[in-house]
Amino acid sequence: MNIKSIGVVGAGTMGSGIAQTAAVAGFDVVMIDVSDAALSKGRAALASSLERLVAKGKLDAATQKAALERIVTSVDYAQLASVDVVIEAATENVELKGRILKQIEAAARPDAIIATNTSSISITALAAQLADPSRVVGMHFFNPVPMMPLVEIIRGLQTSDETAAAVRTLTERIDKSPIGVRNSPGFVVNRILIPMINEAFFVLNEGVATAHEIDEGMKLGANHPIGPLALADLIGLDVCLSVMEVFVRDFGDPKYRACSLLRELVAAGRLGRKTGRGVYDYAV
Ligand code: NAD
Repeated sequence: MNIKSIGVVGAGTMGSGIAQTAAVAGFDVVMIDVSDAALSKGRAALASSLERLVAKGKLDAATQKAALERIVTSVDYAQLASVDVVIEAATENVELKGRILKQIEAAARPDAIIATNTSSISITALAAQLADPSRVVGMHFFNPVPMMPLVEIIRGLQTSDETAAAVRTLTERIDKSPIGVRNSPGFVVNRILIPMINEAFFVLNEGVATAHEIDEGMKLGANHPIGPLALADLIGLDVCLSVMEVFVRDFGDPKYRACSLLRELVAAGRLGRKTGRGVYDYAV
């Protein structure tokens, strides 16, 4: 399939970043959300991200202008009728995503690929809800999308070879690097990353070292660009906790139990940077 146009459903953090990245790479983009307010917010976010890239000399003004002109926004799923690929990046909720994928299936061409950016929902289970599950695939982008090079390409049990190959090529054409992953909770990156962060909370809770020392240790000794506890504050402690809870539930393995300190901080509303306080204090 010669992919030329992309639909993005959800104009939030991830959807607007995906729309921006695709438009910069030369694709026509239709971005869908439930309200004009959400669409305006998404467009403003991607416009200011493009502006920053121009200011840093990473993008020229002509590409910025052309990218903005390639993005059409709408609250009407019927606008997806002409696109080659739809990437769903709406709110993480299993019932909602099932409903959205069926709406996409009804609106898009029968040969269009339907990708989902879900972080934690089974691609196999989502695909099973559609008439043709072979065209459903996971495309897991990382935040912030314009900066992060990786896309995990997740094959559900039913995903066809053609679908997986087409999104792999698409990923390269939008200047990202794909890795192929079989559907499994947390895929590859979060499966390894979040339990490592959880382990850092155990180490902190046991008084083995201070938060600063733990983070310095992993930066200087394991060459990580950011320590696991500072990263937890960036991701959101509530997000880390809910991923561990998904792992315990889906693998049925107690090795994924969340650290009690992580639970305590979440219960206290200390969720990280977004609340001004997590492991570290960001209030000035
Ligand atoms: P977000 O809350 O910033 O944006 C979600 C958007 O979806 C909102 O604009 C909302 O209005 C819209 N939406 C809700 N219902 C809709 C519907 N029926 N039709 C169209 N749009 C609808 O969320 P986000 O952080 O961008 O996350 C989106 C998806 O990406 C989730 O599945 C999440 O798990 C995944 N993800 C997030 C990150 C991250 O770091 N934020 C990283 C990788 C993957």
